Amino acid sequence: MSWRSAARRPWSLRAASLLVVAGVALTACQSAGTPGNSPTARPSSPGSSGTPGSAQPSAPGTSGSNNPAKPSTNEGTGKVKPPKRKGYSIRYGPNRTARVALTFDDCPRSLAEEKEVLRGATDLGIGLMLFPTGSCIRSKTFDPEFARNLGHYVFNHSNTHPLLTRLSYSGVLSQLGPPGVQSSYGRPPFGGWNSTVARAYAAKGMRMWLWSVDTNDWKGYSEATVVKYVIRTARAGDTVLMHMHWNGFSVDALRKMQAGLAKRGLEVCRNSGTPTPVRSTDVYC
Ligand SMILES: [Zn+2]
Repeated sequence: MSWRSAARRPWSLRAASLLVVAGVALTACQSAGTPGNSPTARPSSPGSSGTPGSAQPSAPGTSGSNNPAKPSTNEGTGKVKPPKRKGYSIRYGPNRTARVALTFDDCPRSLAEEKEVLRGATDLGIGLMLFPTGSCIRSKTFDPEFARNLGHYVFNHSNTHPLLTRLSYSGVLSQLGPPGVQSSYGRPPFGGWNSTVARAYAAKGMRMWLWSVDTNDWKGYSEATVVKYVIRTARAGDTVLMHMHWNGFSVDALRKMQAGLAKRGLEVCRNSGTPTPVRSTDVYC
């Protein structure tokens, strides 16, 4: 596992350097956007609503809720209330169902790994939401068409994974352009956005889809720890953030998450069994 950790650190290193620059506590794709943002410009971002990592020192696997702002848990009841969202929201994207969206960012370790995990997910009937960087696609470490053909969604995650709030409007537009996928949803790196970033997303015809559960998998937690955290923490309709180069991205992990959540009466987003479109505001879950 240590070799693996060493080989899988690019974004966490970047996050760490941003931490120094910003002088705030960061989580992987999370709070880096906060400094410099007007609080009023991002009313429903995870950082401002107290959800994922922002004020959250506890690691996955420790006790305590990751979502203190959320209402009552469904844990142990076997009953899952559908969320009350009527439409798109920045944390939950277009998912209005009670199913849990499993999302993976950045880049797998290899194209072979992408194919293995995505085939396995499809066999399990799971539809994943994938946010590869343009660099990952250009290096042919991730094949968007392969993913779509297996019933998974592929969304934009910038080209080189910068903190978009530090860029000009034209700089953001460039980051959201090819070779990154030109999709209907996109996730800004580190979850960082401001009004300029929002304007660029709108110009690209994309809506931002952040997350409601942050596994912090990039810290190198074992597969078992990430799996346990997802099973314990996810609630109806949640969007779970993980990364393709870390330990939640395996067929075994997906199978265990699916089974563990099922014991709590929760389903994960299903796979339609048909190719997904490049652009669509509706997402099958
Ligand atoms: Zn990322």
